[in-house]
Amino acid sequence: MRRYIVAGNWKMHTTLTEATDLATGLRERISGYSDIERVLIPPYPWILPVRDAIAGTDIHIGAQNCYTEPSGAFTGEVSAEMLSAHCSYIIVGHSERRHTIGETNDLIASKVSAVLRAGPRVILCVGETLEEREAGRAERVVSEQVKSALAGRSEQDLDRVVIAYEPVWAIGTGVAASAADAQEMCAFVRSLVDDLFSNYVAGSLRVQYGGSVKGSNSEELLSQPDIDGALVGGASLDADEFAAIVRSASAQVN
Ligand code: PEP
Repeated sequence: MRRYIVAGNWKMHTTLTEATDLATGLRERISGYSDIERVLIPPYPWILPVRDAIAGTDIHIGAQNCYTEPSGAFTGEVSAEMLSAHCSYIIVGHSERRHTIGETNDLIASKVSAVLRAGPRVILCVGETLEEREAGRAERVVSEQVKSALAGRSEQDLDRVVIAYEPVWAIGTGVAASAADAQEMCAFVRSLVDDLFSNYVAGSLRVQYGGSVKGSNSEELLSQPDIDGALVGGASLDADEFAAIVRSASAQVN
C-alpha cells in the first residue's frame, strides 16, 4: 500500500518568528500522525529554525528548489548536496518556477538528476495551464513534463520520486480541480509511469494532487484511488488547516 504524503510548500512566505510559530503549532497538531508522511517546506533561511522546532518528531523538512551542480561559482544558488544535510525532499519544477522564473523541461530534468545524485527524494511538479486545458492539451503537456523529467531513469530512482499533479489554474486561486478531474489526471500520470517503467513501479509511485487543497476539500480529493497525498500551498501556512488535511489523509488509512 502506498503511504500518503502531505507536504506544505510555504513558498516565499513567513518571517522568522512566523515560521517558528507555525512549526511549533504544527508540531503540536500533526506529530501524532505517523501513518502519514508529513513534510514542511519552508523558505531556505528558515530550514534550520523549523528543523529545530520539530526536532524529535518524524515530520520531514523539504526544500522548494535547488541548483543542478553540486558546488562551484554559482552565486545565489543552493545545491541539492547542501540541502541534503537537512532536507529529505526537494521540490523540482513547481509551476511558479516554470512560469514565473522560466524554468524549462530540460533544466527541470537536470535538477531531478541533481536531487537523485545528492540523496534526498524529489517532489516533481507537473501540470497544465488553463489555456492548455481549454485547448484540450492537458494530457500532452503533462506527458511531456513527466517524460522529460523521468525517461531513462532507473527503477530504483523512481523509488525516490513523488509526482505532484498541480494544474496551474488551481494553484493559489481557491478553486481546486474537481475530485473527478484530479483523479483522472493523477491516474494519467500513473499510466505514463507504467508505460515508461513497469506496472510495479507505477503501482508503487505516489502521486499527489496540488492546487487549492484545504481542510474542506481534502477528504474528497484524498479519497480518490490514484491520489496519494497533497502538495499544499496557502493552507499550509495555517496550522489548523494543514492539520485538517493531514487528518483527512489519516482517515483514508484508518
Ligand atoms: C502550491 O504552491 O504547490 C499550491 C498547490 O498552492 P495552493 O495550495 O495555494 O494552491
